[in-house]
Amino acid sequence: MSSNIEYRWLVYCIEEAIDVGVWSATGPTQCPNIHGDRSIETSRTRVVDSRNMKKNFFKIYPQVKTIVSKDYYLTASFDFLGSDNIGTIYSIYVLALSEGVGSNFDIRIYNPSSAPSTSVIAEKTGLNNSTIALINMGTIANVPTDRTTLEVQVKRTTGSKKIGIREITVYYGPELS
Ligand SMILES: [Zn+2]
Repeated sequence: MSSNIEYRWLVYCIEEAIDVGVWSATGPTQCPNIHGDRSIETSRTRVVDSRNMKKNFFKIYPQVKTIVSKDYYLTASFDFLGSDNIGTIYSIYVLALSEGVGSNFDIRIYNPSSAPSTSVIAEKTGLNNSTIALINMGTIANVPTDRTTLEVQVKRTTGSKKIGIREITVYYGPELS
């Protein structure tokens, strides 16, 4: 979070056999589109543009603080005012943990009113930290332009421990001219 600069990346998605564009401070490690095999041809990743974002944030506190569901379960919903109104979302961080050693969990930021192909805004899988950790949700995609209710969803993929969600921070802002 040391810079307000973010970049327009083109990554080559092997399964889709196309270049896919995404804005991110750091280079994507997988295709921003959600589908079966999101592997990219890393040698073809390149930067095509950059922008200087005004750094604002808001915090969300979960309505459901512990999750045991093996399917994605709503922990928090929030009112995002839309990228046309307040600027895009450029990163999301979640404070979360497995409350005990031995459970894996996934987190995603989800738009329930979007078509399935564009409903996932960010997703982090295979988490297993048993002490509180600040989880960078990684590449942001499919940010709604209009005011939209978005969801933070969590699922436990293995084990029997509760998954605890403490806080979500959303960084957003317009491009600086
Ligand atoms: Zn793809």
